[in-house]
Amino acid sequence: MAGPRIGVASLVQETNTFSPKPTVREDYTVLSGEEALRTLAGTNTEFAGAVAGLEELGAEVAPLLAAWALPSGRVTDETFEYLAGLLDRGLDRALPVDGLVLSLHGAMVAGSVFDADAALIEVARRRIGSVPLGVCLDLHANVTERMVELADIMVGYHTEPHVDMASTGERIARLVVKTVRGEVVPAMALAKRPMLVPAEGMRTDIGPMSEVRSLADSRTGGPVLEVSLFPVQPWLDVPELGLGVLVVTDGDLTGAGLLAEQLAGEVWRRRDRMTTPRLMDPEEAFRAARESDCRPFVMAHTADCPTAGAPGDDPVMVTEAAHHAPDLVVLHSILDPEVSRRCHNEVGGRVRIAVGGAFEKSVVPVEVEGTVTAAGSGAYRLTGRSFTGREVSMGEWAVIVTGNHHLLVSSAPSITADPATWRHAGLEPDRADVLIVRSCSDYRANFPGSAAEAVTLDLPGPSTPRLEHLEFRHAPKPLYPDDRAAM
Ligand SMILES: [Zn+2]
Repeated sequence: MAGPRIGVASLVQETNTFSPKPTVREDYTVLSGEEALRTLAGTNTEFAGAVAGLEELGAEVAPLLAAWALPSGRVTDETFEYLAGLLDRGLDRALPVDGLVLSLHGAMVAGSVFDADAALIEVARRRIGSVPLGVCLDLHANVTERMVELADIMVGYHTEPHVDMASTGERIARLVVKTVRGEVVPAMALAKRPMLVPAEGMRTDIGPMSEVRSLADSRTGGPVLEVSLFPVQPWLDVPELGLGVLVVTDGDLTGAGLLAEQLAGEVWRRRDRMTTPRLMDPEEAFRAARESDCRPFVMAHTADCPTAGAPGDDPVMVTEAAHHAPDLVVLHSILDPEVSRRCHNEVGGRVRIAVGGAFEKSVVPVEVEGTVTAAGSGAYRLTGRSFTGREVSMGEWAVIVTGNHHLLVSSAPSITADPATWRHAGLEPDRADVLIVRSCSDYRANFPGSAAEAVTLDLPGPSTPRLEHLEFRHAPKPLYPDDRAAM
């Protein structure tokens, strides 16, 4: 007997509503269903995991499309319409299906749509009717009641830093097939708490969130099909903002609701312990680097981090490194399309050029004088534990060397938490004294030897680790930790 025919689509973007850089069509990589099957096979992505899971269960895979963009500011309305159209036409070609797996981020905001992921689920629901619809989400998703109403089953990553994308895809695929076959009847409940957690405070390998994750795992099994914890990414000013716990049971809505509330309570109880450890100003951070034997010594510039949706164009660490560490070998990076273009034809030559502030108007550019030692462009594959094998590009790039400092300038955002990005530019992170990454947590998975000593830089920016500095207009009030006194 032929297995059920299941559609698979992926449309992923995480929005930082504090970022000045809107997400536009050109920021997306779009693969047709067939291209996605070919290019993503074997990668640590939800799409690849879902396909592998479906094939193992004997289901027929109907690949629709895979589209993703790096985190950034709001998706423009025009771009959102384009994405919704892609999904709609993909479904049009694939129908009829017996079920659908949709991989979304869960924290996408479009120009005029706060809950843009729910709007995409709605597009799918309208097309497929009442057949089972499973959605997998990032751990940083802001899960809403509308999403719960529209989907039959939702699951999220279990890890932060994220290393379980493929297995999350596989889990949702299995649940969709079981639902199609009538083996389970999913009942789903969401519990929310008005709280935000800084990126470093939500790790699932250590600390308070790992305790609640263990508790969730111990309660999963039997009628409890899935428990997902969503400590939402904090740079998101939307009306239903807050930590979410989502429980899927086999037919027991009351049980799902009780467990979700219980686990949300467990997170809430631990909120004061969910903080950013080793937050240091640049001078302290360079002192710590000198006192440490760990190489490379990693400094996380989390406040201006492209994988948290910020532009990555603040050059403050260029100046700080020049002041505090001229003798140390430092690798650092900046997004500056104009400078990378100009340096592209200057390999071997000296340049004196202002860098920074291409998007964030409050950022002051700084002058860099040095030799352009390399330049290039084109795609390469990530090699770290998060997004292993994913093909990415940082547009046109160049390396400007000033004494011991190597500045990687790129025209598109770069993933500096992954060693492959540096190596693509001819730089070896393992030989640096200090590696400055624009990353909130992925570097922990990708540079495990440096993680224990790594410091978070205490700097301002659209993805600041100091959540009390964010000015919310749409989020519910009171909101922890902003209104600590009121709670
Ligand atoms: Zn995430």
